[in-house]
Amino acid sequence: MLWAVTTGHPRSHRRARRTRFGLLFGLVVVIALAVAAVIVLRPPGPRPLFQMPVGCGETWQVGTYPGHGDYDVDFFPLSGDPWGQPVLASYEGTVTVAGINGSLGGRTPDNPDGPRGRGGGYWVKIDHGGRWETQYLHLLEPPLVQAGQRVVQGQQIGRIGSTGNSGAPHLHYEQRRGWEKVETYFDGAPSGITNDDAEYTLRLTSNNCP
Ligand SMILES: [Zn+2]
Repeated sequence: MLWAVTTGHPRSHRRARRTRFGLLFGLVVVIALAVAAVIVLRPPGPRPLFQMPVGCGETWQVGTYPGHGDYDVDFFPLSGDPWGQPVLASYEGTVTVAGINGSLGGRTPDNPDGPRGRGGGYWVKIDHGGRWETQYLHLLEPPLVQAGQRVVQGQQIGRIGSTGNSGAPHLHYEQRRGWEKVETYFDGAPSGITNDDAEYTLRLTSNNCP
C-alpha cells in the first residue's frame, strides 16, 4: 500500500509534465509550420518594371533554342567584342547569390574553345522583393557584387563570359516569380519567349537607362 502511494504519485506527476510538454511542443510545431506556409505561399507582388540586363540604348540578340529550358533567354551582343561587356541589374534588389554554379570550365577570351564547364559558371541571383528574382549566368569573372549587397537598377554586376556549360560568350538570363520561371518582360513588354520547342531570336534595344 505504502509502496503504491509513494511510487504512484511521482509517476503521475511526470506523466502530466510529459503531456504538458507534448502539447507545448505540438503548438510550437504548428505555429512554425503556419509561419513557413505564410512565407512560402504568400502571393507574389506586382511584376517589377524589369529592364534588359545590358547597356542603355544597346541592341542585342535575345533568343532561345530547343532543349534550352522554357522561358530561358540568351543574350548575344550585336556589336563589339562580346567578351567582357557589362552585365547590369534588371531592377533594384538584394543580391542573394554571387558565386559559382556547377564548374567554371576553361573558356576564356584567350582560349574560347577551351573545356566546357558545367551549369551556370559564375552567376548572380537578385531578389527584387515580392517573390521576384532574376538570374545571370556564365559571367566571365567572379561577380562584381556580393551576396547581401543592395543593387540599383542598371548597376553593373558582372561581365559577359562563357563559364559553365556555355558554347560562346553570352548571358543566360531568367526572371522568376516564386519558385517558377516566367516569361521575361523588358520595359513592361513580354519577350514572347515562352518555350524552347524551336529556335527563336529577336532583336531588342535596352532601356536600362539611368
Ligand atoms: Zn542559356
